[in-house]
Amino acid sequence: FAPWNDPNEKPLIRFQNVTKKFGDFTAIGDLSLDIYEKEFFALLGPSGCGKTTMMRMLAGFENPTQGRIELSGQDIVPVPPNKRAVNMMFQSYALFPHLSIWDNIAFGLRRSDMPKNDIVDRVEEMLKLTRLEKFARRKPHQISGGQRQRVALARSLAKAPKLLLLDEPLGALDKKLRQDTQFELMDIQEKTGTTFVIVTHDQEEAMTVASRIAVMDEGRLIQVATPDRIYETPNCVYVADFIGDVNIIEGRATSVGPERYRIDWSDSLPPLTATSATPFSDGQGCHLAIRPEKVSISTERPAEADNAVEGKVLDIAYLGNLSTYHVELPGGTIVKAQTANTRRISRRNISWEDSVWLSWTATAGVLLAE
Ligand code: ATP
Repeated sequence: FAPWNDPNEKPLIRFQNVTKKFGDFTAIGDLSLDIYEKEFFALLGPSGCGKTTMMRMLAGFENPTQGRIELSGQDIVPVPPNKRAVNMMFQSYALFPHLSIWDNIAFGLRRSDMPKNDIVDRVEEMLKLTRLEKFARRKPHQISGGQRQRVALARSLAKAPKLLLLDEPLGALDKKLRQDTQFELMDIQEKTGTTFVIVTHDQEEAMTVASRIAVMDEGRLIQVATPDRIYETPNCVYVADFIGDVNIIEGRATSVGPERYRIDWSDSLPPLTATSATPFSDGQGCHLAIRPEKVSISTERPAEADNAVEGKVLDIAYLGNLSTYHVELPGGTIVKAQTANTRRISRRNISWEDSVWLSWTATAGVLLAE
């Protein structure tokens, strides 16, 4: 049972109760997941959570110990890697140094039974798609890192796979180029309509490129959803903490109205108010997850706020467009508030050691079970 599979979407890939063991060690445990046609799907999670193992099973380099993997409704477990409509692009790109860009892209096509004219057309099409026409005659060492990445992409798409697996595809690029390339990757995915599955350590990258993200931990899926749902409504503290910056406040919930709770959390500070569609029983332990940008900071006590606490500024991180304030509350809890640096706010001039008020609405956070 996978609560995040959508019965209205057509799955291209279907993991059904897949377990992968290496000896006694369970790398993937009873995992079920659908990946739909034309999706840009990201597998995200800490090192060792099983992302690469998932990719290797899709590519056919590993077989599940138990369970079934379907591609377009067909069990692919018995199908060898070279007979699957799946291709994998490695972080190292693995280009042939002695071959031209043109020949690198043509390599796989020449080993198929594709007629020569069709190979020429297909290579030209791939060069155009990846904006490499000008570099066709060069060797890999005569182009930039970003261009090499595009050659690797063109080569892996040349045989028109139904599924392209991208293992840290932008890992070798510096930050600025990486960001530009993310948009290119999205553009190419959309133009070809190929299903992309990407593995990345970089949560911002997953948020940027993917239509859906699977957050994994220890061989299990923790949450599978669109980037905005993962960010706005994480289903547990692990996901809230893994994606983006978050304040986690521990307390006990008591119902005070429909979907409205009082959160007792501190001996010295008044209770907080939070809403939750998920019910909590009175006195139940909870975590309130609030993104720093949902917390307002001001020097005066806000006139009307569901939650307002006073504290002292410990640290300010200036990030150009944003500033993040670390504010210590009585009792030692540190709450992060982030503001956009419009001219109006930067003039407000809050500095270290200042006494400030933090405030947020009852709906600003997500109430999570312990
Ligand atoms: P990273 O982000 O570091 O690449 P990952 O999420 O891709 O990590 P996997 O490579 O899928 O993780 O590995 C999942 C777990 O399975 C790890 O604990 C790893 O040590 C183990 N593992 C992977 N391959 C093998 C193998 N061939 N033999 C034994 N254990 C393995």
